Amino acid sequence: MADKKALRKILKNLKQQHLTHLADYSERVMQQLMKHPRFCSARTVMLYHALPDEVDTRTILQGFHESKKLLLPVVDGDTMYPVCYAGADGLCIGAFDIREPQGKPFTELSTIDLVVVPGVAFDAAGHRLGRGKGYYDRFLAQPELANAYKIGICFPFQMLEAVPTDIHDVCMNEVLCGE
Ligand code: ADP
Ligand code: MG
Repeated sequence: MADKKALRKILKNLKQQHLTHLADYSERVMQQLMKHPRFCSARTVMLYHALPDEVDTRTILQGFHESKKLLLPVVDGDTMYPVCYAGADGLCIGAFDIREPQGKPFTELSTIDLVVVPGVAFDAAGHRLGRGKGYYDRFLAQPELANAYKIGICFPFQMLEAVPTDIHDVCMNEVLCGE
């Protein structure tokens, strides 16, 4: 617990040193993700809409929302559910200042082929450190998502040798950092 907290602080400082490169890093991750066989074959993909300090996913949101079913998370109290993304015009500002689509929850969770997950840090084994609220751990723990492929995406400096985890932390199948 203390480990995670300390690590989040270290990553926050590290990010300050890379601010001018974040847009460039994001684009590299997007290019890598677009070419990924799991992304190419996926019909339904849950993405996220980035905060300014996260890997920006707008290249894929703009490029694929007509050819794939793209979903974005909507935060409701302690839980999170996906809603179909229908273009940037339909977004509004939700909890934590995150842009969210409006509309009814997408309930066919078992049809989600790929979930693209943001994080504060990852390691190559797929362990993930989030912002400390556990939203993705609770969301991904749902049995309907057991077979969804989970790709964590991050900036290169967020890819660590090892990330501390607890029993409730859901592991990624793969992590991409644009390198
Ligand atoms: P993050 O993944 O955002 O870095 P943590 O892994 O530290 O955050 O988890 C934060 C909190 O979320 C945990 O202390 C735990 O109480 C809660 N949590 C995580 N997963 C679950 C779950 N599957 N069910 C209930 N609570 C959970
Ligand atoms: Mg966690």
